[in-house]
Amino acid sequence: MQNADIIASKEKAKELDQADELSNFRSKFHLPVDENGKPLLYFCGNSLGLQPKNTSDHVHQELEDWKNLGVKGHTKARNPWMPYHEFLTEPMSKIVGAKPQEVVMMNTLSVNLHLMMVSFYQPTKKRYKILIEKDAFPSDRYAVESQLKFHDIDPKDGLLLWEPDELSGCYSKASFERIIEQEGDVIALVLIGCPNYYNGQCFDLEHIVQRSREKGSKVGFDLAHGAGNIQPNLHDVEADFAVWCSYKYLNSGPGSVAGCFVHEKHIARTDIKRFTGWWGHQASTRFQMPDDFQPIPTAEGWQLSNPPVLSLAAIKASLEVFDNAGFDRLRNKSVSMSNFLMELLDEIPDEMVTYITPRSATEKGCQVSIRVKNSDKDLFERLSAQNLVADWREPDVIRIAPTPLYNTFEEIYRFVELLRSNVHAG
Ligand SMILES: *Cc1c(COP(=O)(O)O)cnc(C)c1O
Repeated sequence: MQNADIIASKEKAKELDQADELSNFRSKFHLPVDENGKPLLYFCGNSLGLQPKNTSDHVHQELEDWKNLGVKGHTKARNPWMPYHEFLTEPMSKIVGAKPQEVVMMNTLSVNLHLMMVSFYQPTKKRYKILIEKDAFPSDRYAVESQLKFHDIDPKDGLLLWEPDELSGCYSKASFERIIEQEGDVIALVLIGCPNYYNGQCFDLEHIVQRSREKGSKVGFDLAHGAGNIQPNLHDVEADFAVWCSYKYLNSGPGSVAGCFVHEKHIARTDIKRFTGWWGHQASTRFQMPDDFQPIPTAEGWQLSNPPVLSLAAIKASLEVFDNAGFDRLRNKSVSMSNFLMELLDEIPDEMVTYITPRSATEKGCQVSIRVKNSDKDLFERLSAQNLVADWREPDVIRIAPTPLYNTFEEIYRFVELLRSNVHAG
């Protein structure tokens, strides 16, 4: 890129920031700095979202009520702890495009994934396979393999992998259809992460559900990278279940409580197998401690334990920020940001730098997965030493996630300049 182009890109970043109607949301977050107090280039919201400034007030409120009320806080706290998880249901259901009765915040993601597979992975002699992406998140793969083994199925036989195309690094609809055509009759469960954590690709969820269902498979989605990033419209696409964590794009703090979706058509069924605990029992009779388990006829019927309120308080704080920003506005800004990042990357000469995330708005979220030719982790370490906070995946992928709540276009510009100078220096 010539000097004139660099200046033009910098100007364009400035203009985009000036026109950004969400720019004031950055000031609602704590922005991390290095040991000298210099700001970091934080593009890691796909791993751990930053802390909203209102989080400490929300958590502090519960600490105060606990201090002053003890056990009475269950009913007498300003936000009573007994129904605390219910305060999150409505705003969270909007974020994933669900009805409130289809959503519950509980446990952590991998736990919820297991609970959902207990209910929606019911292998038979004829139909027992599970289909996942080849680059599924390792925890998902471990969970799936352990479920297969739990049912005495050898993962070599029971685990099917949807492979990305070698050249583009992307998953194609055609290859999905081919697998369903060939194996659909023996697939019990299709479990897909959206976006895929590695290449950042978003899928046509409706297409996945329809094709899978035609052949009789159940479909679940892992939205660890989707919740707070893209709109998955879980109810309308008719997923059987979905799970997600709240600490990535949902900014609710490390290890915070996860989300779970069960489609309306399943929530009141009593014939579904499930692992149960007292918090899934009808709230009206829970404390009479009856012997017979009667599930709450909503997604809450899958709850096991009374939830950690301090963690829920952090989620409540974050959802207020999302509600104020408005999801459509966030999504629009997110698309402009990833477009701008891709445009700047395209201008780096020599095809040194490419990306394996699809270009079209419907197939990407915040994250852009960048591939640098002949690079290794040294490059990433040089970038990190210059205050970039991003994520490296072997063998040659840097994941960058500009998030619309707290990143700026100018930061994207600065990142690409940093990358360009280091690629050429290397
Ligand atoms: C982050 C992530 C997880 C993490 O699972 P936890 O149970 O929250 O530790 C699982 N799956 C995917 C796809 C992820 O991106």
